[in-house]
Amino acid sequence: MTMYFSDEPDHIQMLRATLRRFIEKEAPRPKREEWRRAQAWPRDVFAKLSELGVCALTVPAEFGGQGPDWYAATAVIEELSRCGSFLAGPYIHCAFYGGGNVAESGSPEQKAVLLPKIAEGKVQFAYGFSEPDVGGDLASVQTRAHLEDGGDTVVINGSKRWCTGADWADYIICLVNSDPEGSKYRNLTLVLVPTDAVGITRAALSHRNMVYTHSFDVHFDDVRVSAENILGGPQAWNEGWRVLAGQSLDVEKVEVAAITYGLAQAAVEEAWQYAQERQQFGRPISGHQAVRHELVDARTRLQACRHMLYHAAWLVSQGRPASVETSMAKLFVADVSVQIGLACQRVLGAYGLSDEFDMPQIVIDLIGMPIIGGSSNMQKNNIAKRLGLAE
Ligand SMILES: Cc1cc2nc3c(=O)[nH]c(=O)nc-3n(C[C@H](O)[C@H](O)[C@H](O)COP(=O)(O)OP(=O)(O)OC[C@H]3O[C@@H](n4cnc5c(N)ncnc54)[C@H](O)[C@@H]3O)c2cc1C
Repeated sequence: MTMYFSDEPDHIQMLRATLRRFIEKEAPRPKREEWRRAQAWPRDVFAKLSELGVCALTVPAEFGGQGPDWYAATAVIEELSRCGSFLAGPYIHCAFYGGGNVAESGSPEQKAVLLPKIAEGKVQFAYGFSEPDVGGDLASVQTRAHLEDGGDTVVINGSKRWCTGADWADYIICLVNSDPEGSKYRNLTLVLVPTDAVGITRAALSHRNMVYTHSFDVHFDDVRVSAENILGGPQAWNEGWRVLAGQSLDVEKVEVAAITYGLAQAAVEEAWQYAQERQQFGRPISGHQAVRHELVDARTRLQACRHMLYHAAWLVSQGRPASVETSMAKLFVADVSVQIGLACQRVLGAYGLSDEFDMPQIVIDLIGMPIIGGSSNMQKNNIAKRLGLAE
């Protein structure tokens, strides 16, 4: 597929048009406000969304999917983010956390069982990476796992923090230290832990961003799962970092950049419309040069974000090396979108802080983006390292 600087292919244009109609019909402003207050995503609307086949975009055809088409899936996140995180969030948990990881790294059994359900949007995943004492330095996780029953059972003890969706996900993709004597990066394993496993308890955290759901502290107290639940199967024991740092990491950066871009776009659209309706000093405020320029700056920055995002998504779709470009996209889109959001909020004046508009929630969501999914500093570290900058 040739994409760079060309029009998007027909199937992407049709996908966007379908999703715009869907969002208009299924996620009008009063509904979004209802979901925001409840801090919950709408299961019924997500079920209808899944019927459009969008979750299948990250699943290979042999498992009932239509992909992986990372470019199209990125466009889905963007379009869904027009209504905030309420549909983009669960879409990412299913199609990206699930589809991306299982399709790339799952064992044959995991693929056969999970991928057809992912394609239908019927199984959900949460990420259990962060811990109370572990943020960016993920390879230092302290949640421990060891093997029992001759290697057939994995036993997990420890605590995860910020595990988003741990109450409704079917599986937590849990990063554990599986060899305390082993060297860093070679002592880690990813385990698909069913959320109803005996020994799991959870406590919701209070947070203002990404309010499609809650994030949790999740405690693992002698949680026992089959070694078949190791992502990649029993032979992937201690291979967690290789799995985590593969294409899934590039996909993860694109997915965070995509929701960020979609939210920034929603901010620009709300401010653009408001500025033409709100009259002050006898004219729409968009007629005042300062406001006019603020809006044009925001659109220009947004356009730059679009190029960064879709170039990275295109590289990933082509299976090309994209570690630098995906980090640059995540870094640039997240940092610049905070500026876009704050500028758009200023255009709305007092109403930029009113729950009658999407703006306050969008801005809070955007402020979180340079932190979550690998902070801006971590992206800079990665880019410098990959480009061989002497330390
Ligand atoms: C709403 C929400 C949902 C989340 N959902 C999930 C989830 O589902 N699963 C999950 O596992 N995690 C989740 N997280 C956690 C998120 O991924 C982490 O917040 C993120 O990885 C950063 O970790 P930290 O906040 O502990 O920051 P830290 O790693 O403690 O960093 C703090 C600051 O120090 C800087 N810093 C740290 N190390 C370096 C360095 N080497 N060089 C330069 N600067 C550095 C960082 O850039 C940052 O500015 C979520 C967080 C939020 C807020």
